[in-house]
Amino acid sequence: MHDDRNLVEARLKRVLNERVRPAVYPESVPLEVAVWHAPGEPVPVTEGLAATGTPIAPGAAWGAPWGTSWFTVTGTIPEEWAGRTVEALLDLGFNESMPGFQCEGLVYRPDGTPVKGLNPRNQWVRIDAEPGEPVRLHIEAASNPVILGDPPFQPTRLGDKETAGTDPLYRLGRMELAVFDENVWQLVMDLEVLGELMAELPADGARRWELLRAVERALDTIDLQDVGATAAAARAELAGVLSSPAAPSAHRISAVGHAHIDSAWLWPLRETVRKVARTASNMTALLEDEPDFVFAMSQAQQWAWIKEHRPEVWAKVTKAVAAGRFVPAGGMWVESDTNMPGSEAMARQFVHGKRFFIDEFGIDDEEVWLPDTFGFAAGLPQIIKAAGSKRLLTQKISWSQTNVFPHHTFLWEGIDGTRIFTHFPPVDTYNCAMTGGELAHAARNFKDKGLARHSLAPTGWGDGGGGTTREMVAKAARVRDLEGSPSVTWEPPADFFAKAEADYPHPPVWVGELYLELHRATLTSQAKTKQGNRRSESLLREAELWAATAAVRAGATYPYERLDRIWKTVLLHQFHDILPGSSIAWVHREARRTYEAVAEELNEIIDTAQRALAGDGDRVVVFNGAPHTRDGVPGGGALAVSGVRWTEARERDGGGFVLDNDQLRVEIDARGLVVSVYDPQADRETLPPGQAANLLQLHPDFPNKWDAWDVDRFYRNTVTDLVDAEEVSLADGSVRIRRSFGASAVTQLLTLSGRRLDIETEVDWHETEKFLKLAFPLDVHADRYASESQFGHAFRATHTNTSWEAAKFEACNHRFVHVEEPGWGVALVNDSTYGHDVTRTGSTTTFRVSLLRAPRFPDPETDQGVHRFRHALVPGATIGDAVREGHFVNLPERRVPGSAAVEPLVGVDDDAVVVSAVKLADDESGDVVVRCYESRGGRARATLTAGFPVAEVVATDLLERPVGEVRHEGGAVPLTLRPFELVTLRLKRA
Ligand SMILES: [Zn+2]
Repeated sequence: MHDDRNLVEARLKRVLNERVRPAVYPESVPLEVAVWHAPGEPVPVTEGLAATGTPIAPGAAWGAPWGTSWFTVTGTIPEEWAGRTVEALLDLGFNESMPGFQCEGLVYRPDGTPVKGLNPRNQWVRIDAEPGEPVRLHIEAASNPVILGDPPFQPTRLGDKETAGTDPLYRLGRMELAVFDENVWQLVMDLEVLGELMAELPADGARRWELLRAVERALDTIDLQDVGATAAAARAELAGVLSSPAAPSAHRISAVGHAHIDSAWLWPLRETVRKVARTASNMTALLEDEPDFVFAMSQAQQWAWIKEHRPEVWAKVTKAVAAGRFVPAGGMWVESDTNMPGSEAMARQFVHGKRFFIDEFGIDDEEVWLPDTFGFAAGLPQIIKAAGSKRLLTQKISWSQTNVFPHHTFLWEGIDGTRIFTHFPPVDTYNCAMTGGELAHAARNFKDKGLARHSLAPTGWGDGGGGTTREMVAKAARVRDLEGSPSVTWEPPADFFAKAEADYPHPPVWVGELYLELHRATLTSQAKTKQGNRRSESLLREAELWAATAAVRAGATYPYERLDRIWKTVLLHQFHDILPGSSIAWVHREARRTYEAVAEELNEIIDTAQRALAGDGDRVVVFNGAPHTRDGVPGGGALAVSGVRWTEARERDGGGFVLDNDQLRVEIDARGLVVSVYDPQADRETLPPGQAANLLQLHPDFPNKWDAWDVDRFYRNTVTDLVDAEEVSLADGSVRIRRSFGASAVTQLLTLSGRRLDIETEVDWHETEKFLKLAFPLDVHADRYASESQFGHAFRATHTNTSWEAAKFEACNHRFVHVEEPGWGVALVNDSTYGHDVTRTGSTTTFRVSLLRAPRFPDPETDQGVHRFRHALVPGATIGDAVREGHFVNLPERRVPGSAAVEPLVGVDDDAVVVSAVKLADDESGDVVVRCYESRGGRARATLTAGFPVAEVVATDLLERPVGEVRHEGGAVPLTLRPFELVTLRLKRA
């Protein structure tokens, strides 16, 4: 037989495109359309429904950027359509080549009940009216601009309503009533499934040829001038090949209906509220039509938005949840970043996420759903377990540029040894459309073949695509058990994981962070958003600590509601496009304002509590919110003391100054560079001979793609050292340095503070596509360094022996990085930066802090303006010193007038055990909840002592649910902790 595959395949493509698909809607009549453009921000549904519109016709322009337009469509079904299925086709002007990211609509009946969403690939609404009856629908349409266009990553002013202008963005498409020919639509589904499967099969296998011949017979059967009349006969030609069952070894795919909706990204938070409502409406409608379909939605915050803002949608969602078909996924408040959130914040993502689903539905979700998060810190497994969860899903590591991850299903082991069953969907997308190509890719790509056979496919268009479509459901039905294809079943994530675990009793283990070899600049872009996060985390710690102390010691009221609300705000902003700095200007402008309001409210809570504790009097009471004793003030306590710190500052031979306080002697030269840091205790110089620290370095930074997200390795090829100083002077015991470069200026203040060299840096930043680093070469010989992460630290190599190590050329730290030779180390601590790099040259290790970038997409003005950072170099530091100084820099002491000393609510007799939270229990019982962890990576035996009468001590999970009784004697609790172990204790007051 001659090989005529190409001929038949090309014929299938043309006939589908030009004859069969158009025949799905063989007849149509236009609808009357009127539109009302809401002035300003979105209006309540009742207002939109009541508005009087003006007529508008297909082809007319509509939609100022970020505007809301209410369309009213009216018409009558022609009498001759009696007995036929009728749908409204409502095209707002969609670009079907993009599934989302553009205009969108939500269709309402005149009584305000939602029908379904309108999205680029989901433009139909089924009409139940009889012929002759009037049809009337309302559409709340959002004219969201396309930010990520073609070509991609172009700077645009459309990303903020304040700069976007008012020119209309869209042209209304067809607005019609049409006959829906179900037979033809089913034929389209048959032909698509078989055509796509055929293309994936080996050309020398019989199955491929069986499909080809069946398709050819079907095409021969179709009357191209009357597809509808011949569709059933054409389908009959395909029935045989469609009923041939899958091979016993076929890959099993659990399809989960899904719509990945970024809580903010190329749209502001307020638009996500509506995106979620539209998609949820689509999905509740699809669940009613398709009995096998299951949909999963993550991010408790998005559920809470529906409940608060769209009660009519919420009613449908809760009904579908009760039926087990609309399923909560993930158990987190949002799909957050996991590199940057601090220990407590990472824990609270689970506390607030899981609690929402437990309170609303009694569902305790055990799967963590983070398909799109930009890498996973090695502290996460313990947090997942401590929250009562046990499984993790992400597909993002498939985006890594350099290395291919060796597993799709494995146990992920964190810094403390906790292991979490983890799955990377081999379909490599969270927007699976059930195409034959995607399914075949999943089966081929699956790394655990031969040992396991199950994978998951998150299926549906996200981010304004409206979720799963009826076409995806139709395709899944055809590949449920089909020869040559993986077998697909709709099921919730929990059912998939149960099968996958049973399937794979001894999965391989991956130890340490799941580093994404991409998007490394998200640790630096939008510095103020990052500072807002860090500052809020520190303030929340203080607010809980001092409010709890004031409640126990002074009978003050604990601000449960305010803290709950503020936590949720901070958690929301840890979403994986907000904290990483990859959202439009609007989002970050609002985030800055929100963080300011958060700081103001938390400072007020702290101040109120401290004044209640400090008592009367006019002495100065010093409050220490850090976990360790500082200048005689115990962690979590306060004393009416004042210590005077002494630093000698003198001129240096050859220019510059010397700062000396007996614990540290620092030389700053005439260029304002630190040329010596001498540790008298160890009689050791910190810097390598001839090298200078506190060196600002400027690189060009224009990545190949994803400007706000990516820094590409070649940025390092070019560097300018900023060594010219306009001023190096003494100011109040500190050295002040001023420099300017490009259009920007820097002022630094260098101060000795005990064993720390504190460096305050103010940058007035007006660069474009540049990367500013602050470098500290150290005379330390080390193969690895430590970065603080959640509840501990992780090590990374200082060298680049392997491609895996070389790929980590920019990484995340929390409050410190630390490097050491046996017996002597150096820490660099910070108050708000996350990105850094560490390199080595022989026995020199160089820390570089990432201060600022200036990408132009998606925010063309990223980081322009004044920024302030605080860093400190700590010579002679152990890991324990790094932990302590990191807390000190982030939790400065507070001074309040009064006279009373405040005894801490809890004390621990071993500095290795760090108290990460002291608060009153969320159930408002008045119990004190304390969380602590072993912070140095060793074993700890310590005693935690309550500074108040205790009746009972209970160990709990992160949600403060009991997991076991704890022995105590008069409020003294013995603790035995393994490396990095965290423990949560609930202390019932006597
Ligand atoms: Zn995302």
